[in-house]
Amino acid sequence: MYLVMIGGSDAGISAALRAREVDPAADVTVVLEDAYPNFSICGIPYYLSGEVTSWRTLAHRTLADLEAAGMRLRLDTIARRIDVPGRKLLITSADGAEELLGYDKLIVGTGAVPVRPPIAGLAGPAALGPDDGVHLLHSMGDTFAMMATLEQVAPATAVIVGAGYIGLEMADALTVRGLAVTQMEQLPEVLPTVDPELGALVHAELAGHGVEVLTGTTVQAITRAGAGQPRRLHVQATSADGSAVTRAADMVLVVVGVRPETALAADAGARLGVKGAIAVDRGMRTNLPDVFAAGDCVITHHRLLGETYLPLGTTAHKQGRVAGENALGGDRQFAGSLGTQVVKIFDQAAARTGLRDHEAKAAGFDPVTVASQADDHKAYYPGSHRIAMRVTGDRATGRLLGLQLFGHKNAEIAKRIDIAAAAIFNHMTVDAVSDLDLSYTPPLGSPWDAVQMGAQAWTRRTRRPLPRSGSATGHRLASRPPGQPRTI
Ligand SMILES: Cc1cc2nc3c(=O)[nH]c(=O)nc-3n(C[C@H](O)[C@H](O)[C@H](O)COP(=O)(O)OP(=O)(O)OC[C@H]3O[C@@H](n4cnc5c(N)ncnc54)[C@H](O)[C@@H]3O)c2cc1C
Repeated sequence: MYLVMIGGSDAGISAALRAREVDPAADVTVVLEDAYPNFSICGIPYYLSGEVTSWRTLAHRTLADLEAAGMRLRLDTIARRIDVPGRKLLITSADGAEELLGYDKLIVGTGAVPVRPPIAGLAGPAALGPDDGVHLLHSMGDTFAMMATLEQVAPATAVIVGAGYIGLEMADALTVRGLAVTQMEQLPEVLPTVDPELGALVHAELAGHGVEVLTGTTVQAITRAGAGQPRRLHVQATSADGSAVTRAADMVLVVVGVRPETALAADAGARLGVKGAIAVDRGMRTNLPDVFAAGDCVITHHRLLGETYLPLGTTAHKQGRVAGENALGGDRQFAGSLGTQVVKIFDQAAARTGLRDHEAKAAGFDPVTVASQADDHKAYYPGSHRIAMRVTGDRATGRLLGLQLFGHKNAEIAKRIDIAAAAIFNHMTVDAVSDLDLSYTPPLGSPWDAVQMGAQAWTRRTRRPLPRSGSATGHRLASRPPGQPRTI
């Protein structure tokens, strides 16, 4: 069996590793356009901040590890065209030589590319780029270019366009590195993937660390500063009330999201779906015979929303694994995403899983979102932190639909969101979250974990009637022996 993977990041390498695991005799070739297979691009901000001192350590596995796993890697090689009926892939290697690679099964993992927003100075033949101190950020190549600016120009000031999770991580990173950072976001609040109430807490954390946060601010143009100016670049923007905002900076980072990289698959006839991503079934099969696809280039099956587009590393790993197994004749299904994610901003973390109120409404639920707070561990033990929570549940069924958290980076925000992710994954009600047997010791938790306190706040607010024995929400009372008093 000849397997060829296009893309050497999370999806392509996960597929290759799984294929070799399932069939150690499988002949596996990974084609990637750069020389950095299996690098953790999620770790880039921490290399640029200086906290991770060597870019080499960002590799999940070294080239030697990957080769030892039995795959062949074609570095600096671009996949040009897929001949679907002939089951051949046209590639160009680093020396410019063209070659046709035959395959039995092909897995497309071409990922995503950063969006270039319509900002004057970012497009056309005179577009500003890394040599001017203007950067996008996705690949190791982008990382090296940005590090060159940081080391050679030694910028004192930076403007970051965008306040999604990568923009926030980079505001943290560049501040840690000693730059004065201005963050411009066109939406009314930062981190628009959580409710504005939590976004405001993130905003305050940024401001508390000296980041100038300009929300409701749309960047119009980036230009080179004239000779003799103290800063290299000018950023012109418009605030929500229409007034002009101008900042001078030594470097500009534009991080406003990604779009799926689908040209190769689309040219071969692959059907596209949500947001132009490659349409796949849950076995990661495209509509093309013997062609699978996974990762940021494909649509995402969401457990509550159906088909959507949610490019995340965790998802790319899982989808790649499914594609690798199925390419060898398996029948694995991608179980679906809940969009579970967490981001560290200086000393705090924000996380979400499942749906927010408006998303749940659009999906046909009758959502109620209840805000509450609880301590991460018993307050009498030193070092406790408050956690702000927003629990979203369905009024009609009591089902847990979503959770958002904000709290100190040591308050186990990531693992607490994972409790809710596991609960939503398993269709649990909000009330049933209180029944989970979670761990407790005063320095690390409470008899009721913070997430359970949030669930109880939701149940109190919605004043759901006590569930009857055997009802979908009646985990605790359903197990009560007949004739025994109710205990709540
Ligand atoms: C700074 C940053 C931080 C992030 N942090 C997180 C995080 O904390 N958590 C999280 O879950 N996700 C995070 N992500 C997102 C995550 O990194 C991506 O979802 C994940 O890497 C997607 O993997 P992929 O394999 O689908 O695609 P990509 O990583 O985009 O890789 C695509 C691969 O395909 C190759 N390729 C494309 N076209 C061709 C071609 N024609 N020929 C040959 N090769 C080709 C590329 O060179 C690359 O190797 C972050 C992303 C960035 C940029």
